[in-house]
Amino acid sequence: MSNDQVKKQIDQLTDKLNDYAHQYYVLDQPVVSDAEYDHLLRELNELEVKYPDLKREDSPSERVGGETLDHFSKVQHEVPMLSLSNAFDAQELHDFDRRVQQGLGHKASYSCELKIDGLAVTLKYQNGRFVQGATRGDGTTGEDITSNLKTIATIPLKLRESVTIDVRGEAFMPKSSFNRLNKAKEAKEEALFANPRNAAAGSLRQLDPKIAAKRQLDIFIYSVGQLEEKVLDSHHESLQYVSELGFKINDQAKHCENIEEVVEYCEGWLEKRANLPYEIDGIVIKVDRLEDQKRLGFTAKNPRWATAFKFPAEEVITTLRDIVLSVGRTGVVTPTAILDPVTVAGTTVQRASLHNEDIIRQQDVKIGDKLTIKKAGDVIPKVVNVLVDRRTGEEKDFHMPTECPECKSELVRIEGEVALRCVNPKCPAQIREGLIHFVSRNAMNIDGLGEAVITQLFEHELVEDVADLYRLEREELMKLERMGEKSVDNLLKAIEVTKTNSLEKLLFGLGIRFVGAKAAKTLAMNFEKMKSLQNATIEQLEAVDEIGTKMADAIATYFDKQEVQMLLEELENLGVNMIYTGPKLQATENLDTVFAGKTIVLTGSMEEMSRKEAKEKIEALGGKVTGSVTAKTDILIAGERAGSKLKKAIELEIDVWDEARLITELG
Ligand code: NAD
Repeated sequence: MSNDQVKKQIDQLTDKLNDYAHQYYVLDQPVVSDAEYDHLLRELNELEVKYPDLKREDSPSERVGGETLDHFSKVQHEVPMLSLSNAFDAQELHDFDRRVQQGLGHKASYSCELKIDGLAVTLKYQNGRFVQGATRGDGTTGEDITSNLKTIATIPLKLRESVTIDVRGEAFMPKSSFNRLNKAKEAKEEALFANPRNAAAGSLRQLDPKIAAKRQLDIFIYSVGQLEEKVLDSHHESLQYVSELGFKINDQAKHCENIEEVVEYCEGWLEKRANLPYEIDGIVIKVDRLEDQKRLGFTAKNPRWATAFKFPAEEVITTLRDIVLSVGRTGVVTPTAILDPVTVAGTTVQRASLHNEDIIRQQDVKIGDKLTIKKAGDVIPKVVNVLVDRRTGEEKDFHMPTECPECKSELVRIEGEVALRCVNPKCPAQIREGLIHFVSRNAMNIDGLGEAVITQLFEHELVEDVADLYRLEREELMKLERMGEKSVDNLLKAIEVTKTNSLEKLLFGLGIRFVGAKAAKTLAMNFEKMKSLQNATIEQLEAVDEIGTKMADAIATYFDKQEVQMLLEELENLGVNMIYTGPKLQATENLDTVFAGKTIVLTGSMEEMSRKEAKEKIEALGGKVTGSVTAKTDILIAGERAGSKLKKAIELEIDVWDEARLITELG
């Protein structure tokens, strides 16, 4: 790149980031995600390090926060309110510790605190009376928001001692208030707040304090700015002191003797954070001794004695390299995004589902685009949006094919469905995927028979349908790659064992449309024998609780097919069990228990019993155990390390029990 080109890029990034920061800090209405902002800032920083002469004076990498709003009077901070340097992993925490030790010439202990996602404020008290409260602003000048801060019940107007002191803290909006506020805004068709941070900032920067009063804000005090007449030695002691004065401090702070303890504390909160009633975006680590803090001092933007451990981003930006197609067992053709590898929420991601053509069109995805992706439900990566303004003109349109990428037969779009389907029953991709499904854990659960072996069996033409699995011979299997005598014997044994599986496993494994593992169990419990199910009429099927018309139709259509009848006969002749052998169906509706008729979700890990055991016991007492928390859930049983389900249950104000309560109620 020529100097002119670099300059142009630096200028563009600087302007864009300043604009985004203005929207975020001043107007409390971010127009891009934090991930996107951080990504661009990193890009700018890298250029600035390489070309320091081209760095602009108004570079966002040099500035703290944003400017102040004119309608509030200005407050000069006697001690500046700065930003924090960042550490993204254990290595970077160790690097921070090394810098601290080098600066001091000795080891340091640390105070670790939750990094509450709200806005920093400073509170001034004279002779124990609250006289002024201000925002951080640009770090040296903030806005006087005293009247709004007075509406926060946890800010004392008079302290327990008559001291003159400045304290700093994070004003925030608890998750429950945030959800309520956004629900009310939604009902009035008003623009929603992007997150609790912006909602808190927006509330405190209203001209009318009555609005702030309604927003149910809270505050944690996290440091002393200035204090006359008293000498404190350490940060943790100062937190204790402010608490004695009547301020609210966060009770999760921990004094750590060394950096290993700090790392442990930080990593521990990765999971636990979901259970907190307020948002945090990291952990703040501060050198504990105030004398040491003084010696380390500040850079232009950050204190050298503190850093923020940032949680791995749940949304990141990457480039779409290609779109590949795969054919599932039902013939649906799914486009998958192939991405430049990127770390999301701690794991590397290279693929994301694009679901179907409509989604590609709606999101206007082109090959070569920069995309924001996130982990949906923390597992499958999902494309959030396309960064259209970052296109270079080199991006290429993508069109779904008209033929099956596997068997070349024409694809069809069934009325009312968005998916394109290959309807050739002999399509090898569908057969292979059907076999993979048949052996999977919730279906026949054949140990040692994963996707790779199935693909080999298929390629060697050893299997054409699921019955062939029960006809496999030792000699044939020995010919496969990486299959020694021992693994062949184990595999044959594993296949043999599954012949005695209870009926629902086979039913699910057959892959009947709409019949998931749960419906398969319901069908098996109600009909008990494969033959009875095969002979059942649509009315008989529909009479079963949880079996709707669509599923009943699909089941009847499936068993009507001659090839299905032949397959089942073959399986039976090969010795595969066709009878339900699980616990018998009980009339539970009329049971007089606390569980009867209730929808219950289990999450987290249990100590006294397995989740499976808990589920069986609840069901035996008339409760229905489901997998996800919805408005219909009555009770959430939260074991140790419960995560997103607990968060959702709290948001929906669902009754939450711990394991001990469950055990008491089970009796
Ligand atoms: P920072 O990450 O530098 O952290 C400093 C702040 O942490 C303090 O001002 C204080 O408010 C807060 N904090 C919370 N708990 C604390 C504790 N116990 N002790 C000390 N401080 C505590 O914060 P920053 O400079 O305000 O913001 C940077 C963040 O803002 C980035 O994550 C960035 O993505 C985001 N941002 C987003 C946009 C956007 O458009 N989406 C724009 C600008 C900035």
